[in-house]
Amino acid sequence: MNNNKRTKIIATLGPASQSESTIIALINEGVDVFRINFSHSTHEVHQKSINIIHRYNINNNSHIALLADLQGPKLRIGDVENNEVNLEDGKIITVTTKETLSSDSILSVNYKPLPKEIKPNDRILIDDGKILLKVVSTDNNQNIQALVVHGGVLTSKKGFNLPDTFISQSSLTDKDKEDLSFVMQNRFQWVALSFVRKASDIHELKKEILKYHKKNSPLVIAKIEKPEAINDIDNIINAADAVMVARGDLGIEIPMENVPLIQKMIVKKCLIASKPIIIATQLMESMISNYTPTRAEVNDVANNVMDGADAVMLSGETSIGMYPVNVVENVRKIILQAESFEGIYYKHNKPENIYSERFITDSICSNACLLAQEIDATAIISMTYSGYSAIKISSYRPKAPIYIFTNNHAILSKLNLVWGVTGFFYDKFISTDDTIEDLKQYLKKIKIISEGEKIINLASMPISEKGKINTLRLSKV
Ligand code: PGA
Ligand code: MN
Repeated sequence: MNNNKRTKIIATLGPASQSESTIIALINEGVDVFRINFSHSTHEVHQKSINIIHRYNINNNSHIALLADLQGPKLRIGDVENNEVNLEDGKIITVTTKETLSSDSILSVNYKPLPKEIKPNDRILIDDGKILLKVVSTDNNQNIQALVVHGGVLTSKKGFNLPDTFISQSSLTDKDKEDLSFVMQNRFQWVALSFVRKASDIHELKKEILKYHKKNSPLVIAKIEKPEAINDIDNIINAADAVMVARGDLGIEIPMENVPLIQKMIVKKCLIASKPIIIATQLMESMISNYTPTRAEVNDVANNVMDGADAVMLSGETSIGMYPVNVVENVRKIILQAESFEGIYYKHNKPENIYSERFITDSICSNACLLAQEIDATAIISMTYSGYSAIKISSYRPKAPIYIFTNNHAILSKLNLVWGVTGFFYDKFISTDDTIEDLKQYLKKIKIISEGEKIINLASMPISEKGKINTLRLSKV
């Protein structure tokens, strides 16, 4: 029986975690995927981390995955005088698209069409909502007058959100395209797009990815952090390969008290659609500077697991925090404990759509999970060529661990983000009979399964055709 956690951990790399020894310590504590955040730092710095992870995978025969997070249309204020100004409550200030040093009376922003798109009374929320401005007027050209409703200290390059304004800028910016070209040279398995507003944003990114190469291209994650995305959520889930509830910006763009139920709604939809779902931001926020998390944070991580997340994501906690390795240790322990909650298993057993193209595979995967539950199987073992069956089986959340064998390293790394899946490289593929026996012997040898246990194998027959899963076999070890 395997004691691994099912829920995966994504850790963002940054100055606090870029050394080889810290990266290895993070992996040893349970990180499955590293996020490279293209909102910060340079390609040169990212390259060093990427090389460390690639080298680690080769040396350890492992499949730690790389996730590239593209900034998307993130709006920012430029450099401020002496890197710190104080915005005073009640003052009217100018927001301009002219490139100039910002001060306590004029803020320079990086989005030229802003005066045309913003309206009086729209809110401008700066630095995660710590500062609030309200638009008084706009000249529809370069300058906006705004009232400081809630002021405070502003430092350089802070982001801002416009929850009331429709922004025409494409979700895939020129910077994102440059970053993507770097990503495509570096064998990433997942690419996340920030501030997605509609399904076509995802299609656009996928089209851009296909311009590079079609083989082993990265899968796409839609970051849900805009109200428009909530309105188009079904189409976005359908278009994306996975979804992230990006609670940081989402809680600024919509009332933050709405986020918990939206999180639950999105997780549920993703489980039904068999799309991996990630919960992100502020899980262990206080550990950026404290050695132990708050009890509320412990509850949040546990509740994310109990909601049904595939993965939880750490941001500042591992990128700039003081205790990145302890954070991951805590998250792993909380996950393991939360996974004793029976409610997370066998979530979704709806009958398969018999008209779908993948009906045979879907039906075998679904029934494998029902059978596993009925007979208390200790393993569901499958081969895969595309990764499809692994994600499908996972989405039924069987209690039996899922062991996936494939001859494609890129797929193994992709699956490292997926709930409950442990992947192995395997390239023998003889006859179905022999392969099933071979996999069983292998798992027995490495002590994952043992004598007398009931296991389920899924395969495609005949195996030589490398087709879709169409066969289920139940046996005793
Ligand atoms: P970010 O996205 O860390 O790239 O801002 C996550 C979030 O907004 O929650
Ligand atoms: Mn965000």
